[in-house]
This record gives sequence, structure tokens and C-alpha cells, in this order.
Amino acid sequence: MKRQIVIISLVLWIALACQPLAPAQTPPAVTDIPTETPTQQAAEPPAELPADPNAGADGLGDSFYPGFGNGGYDTQHYTLDIHVLDVQTSQLEAAATIEAVATQDLSRFNLDFLGFEITSLTVNEEAAEFARNDQELTVIPAQPLSNGGTFTVSIEYKGIPDRMESVALPIPTGWVVYDDGIFVLSEPDGSASFYPVNDHPLDKATYTIIVTVPEPYEAAVNGLIESEVDNGDTTTYTFGITDPMASYLTTININDFDLETMESQAGIPIRNYYAASLPGNVNEPFARQGEMLDYFGKLFGPYPFEVYGALVMDTEFGAALENQTLSIFGVDMVDLDDIEGTESVVAHELTHQWFGDSISVADWSDIWLNEGFATYGEALWVEYDYGKDGLEEWVTAVYNEVKAYPEYYPPPGSPAPNDLFNGGVYLRGGLTLHALRATVGDEAFFDILRAYHDRYKYGNASTEDFIAIAEEISGQQLDDLFDAWLYDKQLPEMQGME
Ligand SMILES: [Zn+2]
Repeated sequence: MKRQIVIISLVLWIALACQPLAPAQTPPAVTDIPTETPTQQAAEPPAELPADPNAGADGLGDSFYPGFGNGGYDTQHYTLDIHVLDVQTSQLEAAATIEAVATQDLSRFNLDFLGFEITSLTVNEEAAEFARNDQELTVIPAQPLSNGGTFTVSIEYKGIPDRMESVALPIPTGWVVYDDGIFVLSEPDGSASFYPVNDHPLDKATYTIIVTVPEPYEAAVNGLIESEVDNGDTTTYTFGITDPMASYLTTININDFDLETMESQAGIPIRNYYAASLPGNVNEPFARQGEMLDYFGKLFGPYPFEVYGALVMDTEFGAALENQTLSIFGVDMVDLDDIEGTESVVAHELTHQWFGDSISVADWSDIWLNEGFATYGEALWVEYDYGKDGLEEWVTAVYNEVKAYPEYYPPPGSPAPNDLFNGGVYLRGGLTLHALRATVGDEAFFDILRAYHDRYKYGNASTEDFIAIAEEISGQQLDDLFDAWLYDKQLPEMQGME
């Protein structure tokens, strides 16, 4: 994720040679953050279920968002079949089929799901009872499920997705309809706005996503396109996501697109989607993605997925998001008068494919493992173009920015749950990695990044996991370094900075 407030500070390094840092922009007022997810307007009454030792938990124990995700099972594969009957009203008819393995004996279990009318719900093809309470959908199978057994939940539903804002950031989240189309930006909890899901990065799964849209719209989704079928008045697109994916990285985008395909030198396929109404040169900041993929592949280890690409929507949403294999950008994140500045956002989202997507947080409080790494990816791209001098300028500029406005850049290790994407997790998080590099040296630093990705790819990691690898590879005791950079109110000195 990249919010606009952060980019304002970060693009400044490019202007460094000729002008001093502009003062930090005042972040947009944080208003209208709901204290809980919106209440769905379902016909079913709220759940009033008796306590039951064999009930799956209604959360996954996240320290920030205990209600996100659910316990008692592990999803393996989602098949989502979504018919968009009308793009402007976003009237949907959909079916979700979830294959899962029970991790305990289960009399009932929960999914996260907001809104819609559920018209059919089965477990292992037998009709199941269910109850709804806010985002919690409780499913009561006709037969209890045994620990270790696989089961299939099929849910048919229809209606219009609820508009929502996350508890973590005040922008429209989940399935968002605007004048010309639809985009999906779900970090951290928007996925439940359009499909029933175990909505926490701890439970990754593979996906098949089938989207049917009326002519002349097109659909752009994560993963590789498997088929595109012209049904006359509608078109059906099928996409396969064959690597495990955290639910918040699922994206479905509907518009009229210009599709651009290419390959990196190392052979990674790239496909970019640009809303057709955008200017013809909107692709310029994305031209070097192949070079970035190959360069970051050398630094971080092989690119973990089978395809990459960017999607630019013709609406402003104040953010870009690293959806797995398909990062999406609000048009306000793409400045065609500042290609280099926009490239830095491109490098940010691309770095997330390793750090955020392939390795996801085990707990949302560890968000700096996503944003600090992606921010440092911007610095690495500067280093690629401008060498050590460019990197030093970047570090000095960012350090001075963080030092000058400590209230906007709090310690990255402990953000507030209602301000998950504060400037500190980005800039001070990125500086934390540079401080590690300055302490252990370049060789050990990049060995650490590669070992970290290799060990935790397609899974989850915590701050402790990363520190353990850094200590193991460097042979140094690094607790004091990480404590100071991640948690001290006082910004530490940067070793080697003039
Ligand atoms: Zn990010």
C-alpha cells in the first residue's frame, strides 16, 4: 500500500540537488474512521448461538484486529464466480466455493462476509444452517467436521456490496464502484465486502476467479488469464492464482482497458492494464518494471510469482496497492510530469511482491515488514540508477524528514490500530533497514534479505522472525539496534550518515 501523504515526502529526494526539502505536508485529517466494520443489512437475525467447545473461533488472534479471520480450519482454494449484472449499480449474483481442511473437530465455524442476501449455503453438498452478525457468518454444517478432514463450503449470494472504510485507514475499501467502473482495494479487511472469506493473511489459499461482465466492460484480476468467453451480451473471464495468496490481495477491476504485455529480460511475463480513457503515455512510468523485476530478483531472490503487472484506474483513490501479481494505482498516484517520482511508487509496489505478498505479516502490528521494506525498495531503485551517492542522498533526505516531523513518523514497530499506515512505518521502517545494512555491511544485508524471503516465502513472518535471521546471518547481536529503530520514541543516529 502506498498512501498519497507518504509519496509527497518521498519523491522529494529527486529534487534534492536543486532545492531543500519542502516542509512535510499535513496529513489529511483522519476522520470518519468507523470504530467497527459496517453492520450488514441481512435479513437473517444476529447469531445467538450457545457456547460450544467444538465451535471454530471467530478470530485468528490478531493483536490489532482480533475479529479478522476465523479459527478451526485452513482454507486451500477459493473458486469465486461473480456475475456483475450491472456495473453502475454493481448488482452481483455470485457463488463462492471454498475448499478447506479442519484443524480441530468442528460443530460450526465462521467466515467473514458483509452484506448480500445468501440464497444457498451447503457444506459438503448438504444444506447447512447459518447465522450472521456484522462481518461474522457462522456456518453450522448438518454433520460435524472432523479434525484433519477436508470439506467444501458453497455459498450463493446476491445483492450490492456494502460501501466500507477499514478500521485501519480512512479511504473507501473493498469493492468500490465509481463513475466508469469498479476497483477492489482491500488491505487490510475489504475482501469480506464481496466474498465469504477467512480474512487474515495467516490463512492463504489459491484461487480461481471467474468474472462475467456486460459488454463493453472488461475484467482484470490477479494471476494468469485462463479463458475469455464471449457470451454475446456479456464476457466471462477466468483467472487462476496458483500460488498461495493472502485474501486482502485479491483484486477484481472492471473498466474498458488497454492491455499491454511484455517480458522481463529474465523471462517474467508482464501485463499492464490502463483504463482506456487515460492518456496514451500513461504507461511511461511502468516501462522499466521488467528491469525492476530482474534487479530485485537478484537482490531478494527469484521473483516468487508467475506473472506481474500494473493496473491504472481512471479515478483518484489516494493510494496504490500491491495486489498479488497485479498492483493497482489510483490515477492520482501517477504523475506523468514526474516519471521518476512515479517510478518510485512503481518500485514500492513491486518490492511488495516479495515483502508483503509472498511473505505476509503474521500479525497486522508487524506492518513495517511490508511498508518499511517496500520503502527501502524505492531507495534500492534510486541506488540502481544513481549509485551510492543517490542512495546516500535518499537516506539523508528521508532521515531529515523523519527527524523534523516526529509526530508524523512515529516508531514503526508500534503503529496505532486505527492508523496502521502512518508515515513512520514507511519512512522510519525503511531507515530501519538501512541502519541494519550500515551495521552488518552490504554482503550480509542482502544475504539476510534473500534468506528471509527464501525461508518465509508463500507464508508469514513476524518481526522476531526477521531479527532472528538477521542475527543468524550476521553473527551479531541486533536486539538493541532493532529496539531503538522500531520502538524508541527518539530517532536513533544513522551510522555512516554525514
Ligand atoms: Zn506499501
